Amino acid sequence: KQPPSRKGSMHELPQDLLQHIKRFEETFTVDTAKLKEIVKHFVKELEKGLTVEGGNIPMNVTWVLGFPDGEEQGTFLALDMGGTNLRVCEITLTEKKGAFDITQSKYKMPEELRTGTAEELWEYIADCLQQFIEFHHENEDLAKLPLGFTFSYPATQDYIDHGVLQRWTKGFDIDGVEGQDVVPPLEAILKKRGLPIKIAALINDTTGTLIASSYTDPEMKIGCIFGTGVNAAYMENVGSVPKIAHMNLPPDMPVAINCEYGAFDNERVVLPLSKFDEIIDRDSPRPGQQAFEKMTAGLYLGEIFRLALKDLLESHPGTIFNGQNTEKLNKPYLLDASFLAAIEEDPYENLSETADTFHSQLGIRPTQPELEMIRRLAELIGTRAARLSSCGVAAICTKKNIESCHVGADGSVFTKYPHFKARGAQALREILDWAPNEKDKVSIMAAEDGSGVGAALIAALTLKRVKAGNL
Ligand code: BGC
Ligand code: MG
Repeated sequence: KQPPSRKGSMHELPQDLLQHIKRFEETFTVDTAKLKEIVKHFVKELEKGLTVEGGNIPMNVTWVLGFPDGEEQGTFLALDMGGTNLRVCEITLTEKKGAFDITQSKYKMPEELRTGTAEELWEYIADCLQQFIEFHHENEDLAKLPLGFTFSYPATQDYIDHGVLQRWTKGFDIDGVEGQDVVPPLEAILKKRGLPIKIAALINDTTGTLIASSYTDPEMKIGCIFGTGVNAAYMENVGSVPKIAHMNLPPDMPVAINCEYGAFDNERVVLPLSKFDEIIDRDSPRPGQQAFEKMTAGLYLGEIFRLALKDLLESHPGTIFNGQNTEKLNKPYLLDASFLAAIEEDPYENLSETADTFHSQLGIRPTQPELEMIRRLAELIGTRAARLSSCGVAAICTKKNIESCHVGADGSVFTKYPHFKARGAQALREILDWAPNEKDKVSIMAAEDGSGVGAALIAALTLKRVKAGNL
């Protein structure tokens, strides 16, 4: 099913607005040839990341060695520190193969934490864990519960229960954590508070998604997040990872790789960067990092839109929002992806919901033709993100010679942004050259809860291996 197009009504717009739309189309359209060029470079970069020398894409070794067999059992905690929320889950993997029970609480991560101190971060996490335990296990004498810590940032791992933060992403900027192992400070605070918790595994949300999805669907070969940030994980054979060759592990042993492909093309040779992407990068806490992520992730979509409108106001004064107070458009990150999603979801011919959204968030009342332009701009930004997003998936499939598979996907953009799935699927079709009558061979579908269930499964797998003396 293809998303609706409003192109039909565009020819009735005034000439200057048509010109603006045309320029936006030139800026944000990524054609098939460009997608293919990007994927070709992407495959090379994935490979480079696995070498001893390394490249832009970290291709982090996760020490998740293979898939669960469905026989895993026990009760585990999962702590999901994503970009926006903090979630604590308790998961019981039951006797029935592949079955589990889950209880969870969600806490909003206060905005200030993103740029606060490390101590504030660990205290906040410990508060949430403590609340959860006190609420669900009041007056119980608990044996230590193993915890899977879903820490969705790039980390170098020598062991599965440790991880050195390579760099913050998703707008986080907390001093004194980059370059450090994040497990000891969390463990120390848990101990100080007497919480009966042992960190069993540090995992990435994509690795969790891969493991949780394949638990219920063996066709799942890739775990993806299209959310506040973007990334994917897949299984590699140890023998295909030159950077761990010195460890003399069995070459056919599977190991999950957390690509961290948000960093794709940080050296900027192939991505079709617009001047708005350049501004986002320049004004971010980590310029030069996460080039691919900054064009595709939910954190940035509303900001790209804001910058495009602001630029238009400044370069062509008087042609839009005439006589209105446009002050609010000057505030960075005022608009999030849900603002764009609301515009793209507007079902009405007269775009009255877009008008309402615009007025309530920006205090601007656009004219009918301006609403048409706004809708088109949102479509263009959403479409570019979806099409570029598919390049990462296509690159992994190409690198691994995967002809057909399922891809487990999660994240706010995947689950909530209108038409994202259809647009992404269409791009995959173009990149991988499927015949028009051919069914999708690689399908990106909703994943099991990777940061919760996936974390529990990985904790269970780890403990099983420790018990067997295999690590
Ligand atoms: C992080 C990844 C994460 C992704 C999705 C990126 O910014 O670096 O570790 O998987 O966001 O949450
Ligand atoms: Mg998340």
